[in-house]
Amino acid sequence: MSPTCADEGRVARAEAAYLGLAVGDALGATVEFLTPREIRSQYGVHRELRGGGWLRLRPGQVTDDTTMALALGQAILADGGAVAPLSCARAFDAWMRAKPVDIGNTVRRNLVGFRRSGDPCAPASEHDAGNGAAMRVLPVALALLDGDDAAIRAAVRAQAHVTHHNPVSDAASEFLCLAAADFVRGETLRQVYRRRIRPLLSGWPQFSYKGRRRENPSGWIVETLQAVLQALMETDSFEACLINVTNRGGDADTTGAIAGVLAGPLYGLSAIPPRWLRVLDAATREACRSQARALLSLPRRA
Ligand code: MG
Ligand code: MG
Repeated sequence: MSPTCADEGRVARAEAAYLGLAVGDALGATVEFLTPREIRSQYGVHRELRGGGWLRLRPGQVTDDTTMALALGQAILADGGAVAPLSCARAFDAWMRAKPVDIGNTVRRNLVGFRRSGDPCAPASEHDAGNGAAMRVLPVALALLDGDDAAIRAAVRAQAHVTHHNPVSDAASEFLCLAAADFVRGETLRQVYRRRIRPLLSGWPQFSYKGRRRENPSGWIVETLQAVLQALMETDSFEACLINVTNRGGDADTTGAIAGVLAGPLYGLSAIPPRWLRVLDAATREACRSQARALLSLPRRA
């Protein structure tokens, strides 16, 4: 099926999800590991893709959050839409060999383990509840957009367990994938709240974001998701959501990336500030757009 046959609204929202991931990553990376107070004193409100940060990035340059998602998407496309653990592990391993600008500790440890064992499923660990599997989940949502929930959850775990074999990481990754798919299909925030957010909070109360403002979220997926959900629920535009979440500091490239995956398709392509898209690394921008289209054009699986 050619992309022109696809629902153009879906295609635009899928592109918005991918570009949201990338601009959120690039925006947040500048202030990753800063506290909100440090951000205020350096930038007032941080609202531009200015690069820098501890990784000394070029303006518009992205980090592992975006490049791992693109590597995963390539593996899924090469397998005709299947999310095969061995293909995912090989793709992440090749990504690591290419010396990415940054890499999470859990990702590195378990990819080194894969090199040794050849087993694409990392050992289960109660400690591996970082946000590294959740941050890269978008291509699964696009490849399985009309799949049933059980199939999507299984595919999410297949890619997640290469590096994060942990039930809390799984719950968050499955939620993000299903919620992103809902937004790409055109559902509203109210619908996604009822269908995904409320059930997440009742099954996994540790993700509850109501009450105290989550500042300085760590790479623990619980804190990451609390910050993202707070920002999503208390803002009413793509730009406001990403500025809200990244100015909390902490693991800001990843909160920005995950917020972008949700707010991108919620508010649509035209809501992404053109000044951010202009500065976003051009090769990344094109890769995001073409991969979003290619994933949506996969033959739909039964
Ligand atoms: Mg990163
Ligand atoms: Mg990060």
